[in-house]
Amino acid sequence: MDGKWKIGKVVGWLGIISLLLFCSFFYAFAYVFDLHTPKSIYLERENRKIASKLELLGQQAANEDLLLYDIQRRDNIVYRPIFGMDVISDEVRNAGIGGEDRYAGYEGFDHSDVMVETARNVDMLAKKVYIQSRSFDDVELLAKRADDMASCVPSLNPVAPKSRNSISSPFGYRMHPIKRMIIFHSGLDFRGEKGEPVYAAGSGVVESVLRGYYGYGEVVVINHGFGYKTRYAHLSSILVREGESVTKGDQIATMGRSGQSTGVHLHYEVIYRGRHMNPYNFINTKMSLEEYRSIVRPSKRG
Ligand SMILES: [Zn+2]
Repeated sequence: MDGKWKIGKVVGWLGIISLLLFCSFFYAFAYVFDLHTPKSIYLERENRKIASKLELLGQQAANEDLLLYDIQRRDNIVYRPIFGMDVISDEVRNAGIGGEDRYAGYEGFDHSDVMVETARNVDMLAKKVYIQSRSFDDVELLAKRADDMASCVPSLNPVAPKSRNSISSPFGYRMHPIKRMIIFHSGLDFRGEKGEPVYAAGSGVVESVLRGYYGYGEVVVINHGFGYKTRYAHLSSILVREGESVTKGDQIATMGRSGQSTGVHLHYEVIYRGRHMNPYNFINTKMSLEEYRSIVRPSKRG
């Protein structure tokens, strides 16, 4: 009984040792000859799944990028121009994201290149979405002020209408009265008397008050928003300050002949998104003097 038990114990131990040896040899063999163990097969399968999911994510990011591109395009050619806002250039929209080692954490893997590319595309997408959302904030702000647009667009004659034609020089190419050569005239000239009131053609904010500004002399520039600015030159006295808000019809200055001028007149410019426009196309020339007087407000500072 005792002897049999001992033999059984030895056999048991031998069995366990043989099994351990077999397993060690099997794994060593598998490792040396790169045979597939159940675990390595499982891991390889997992790896392939992750790689294909990664590729799918990359494709999804590319699709979202295309959708975003369409929104950006409409923003630049429809929404922003409605309110006179400049387009956002491709350079600004597609500017890269800095940082040399931003994607260092993705290095050293089998699919590092795909991971880095996907991470970079997702970062770019996030940045473009941010810029687009800021742009829509600006558009929304102006859209809420759309009712103001009618009072901001410079449509009021800056000087009171007269019985005779008060425009002494039209917009466009003309013989310059002092330089005696054909030169582009960037505004309209209104003749008048020294000290005659000059009114804001639309509501806005006084952007600059310039004194002795080259040939223009005493100048007021009003920024009306929605892409519009107006410039009033050769003034005699200026009755507004930089940064001051003005309402359409507020007196801002008096007419004079400061700067390079052949006589008393107002040189008046309308600038839309940086380009000189013909002011004549904006003003209501049919307005009677009575109607005009009911709109304008003389300055208390004059
Ligand atoms: Zn002029």
